[in-house]
Amino acid sequence: MNCPYCLSEVAEEAVVCKVCTRDLYLFKPMMAKLAELENQLAGIPNQEAYEERIAELEALVEDHESKRVNNRGLKETLFDALLFLVLPLILLLGAHDIITVVYDTKMVYLRIVSMVLPLPFGYFLFKGIKRNVLPWFSGAVLLAICAVIGMSWITSLVDQSPVFPQNAFEWREVLEYAASIAFSFLTGMLIGRIIYNQKHQRRTASVGPLMKFALGIFGEGDLSPEKLHNLMKKVNEYGGTVVALGTTAISIYTGLKHIL
Ligand SMILES: [Zn+2]
Repeated sequence: MNCPYCLSEVAEEAVVCKVCTRDLYLFKPMMAKLAELENQLAGIPNQEAYEERIAELEALVEDHESKRVNNRGLKETLFDALLFLVLPLILLLGAHDIITVVYDTKMVYLRIVSMVLPLPFGYFLFKGIKRNVLPWFSGAVLLAICAVIGMSWITSLVDQSPVFPQNAFEWREVLEYAASIAFSFLTGMLIGRIIYNQKHQRRTASVGPLMKFALGIFGEGDLSPEKLHNLMKKVNEYGGTVVALGTTAISIYTGLKHIL
């Protein structure tokens, strides 16, 4: 330790500085405390090291997550397909049965049910696990086709009408109806993905060179890193929402345009 007056070296046990002969008695506890704090401070890793470690751990979690998805076995996938594709199919056919055969009410109710019912299934399918959109959307298309054919089949049993569409107009109507079911499911999937991403958001948003270039043009080059980061966050947050709104609009349009 050093003397606080003359800065010369003094022994730990000394109560008086032998160079300037001043009393160190009052200073000693304070200096001991200071030395202790300095030691503690040196033991704390800096902010940058923390951030690095967090990014490292996040990458690990993401890696683990993707492995979990890829390792989802056939049994689990079959179970998911049963729960999220076959169950809504059965419910849709049941709704069709109740609305058109039992109560013989307006088709518009069936169309609305068909647009609303698949959405939560898509949502819960994608909310908790990162899945691939394409295979599951293909599944949703299959679900929609089965639902439409099934409904047509049930109707044919009741009034002996043909199962498959007879002319171009009927074909178009059936295809649009199937599309409204599939897009409702897709909307649910995308909303689920948004929720998933919000929960698993990486703290450090990486900006690709192309994005930087595009932002440079629109931001007239005076974009601070902070502004850039905020903009990226907005794109991340609202991009998925815009897509989901779009598919909802498609679902409503295709489902109702001939009826309203
Ligand atoms: Zn001294």
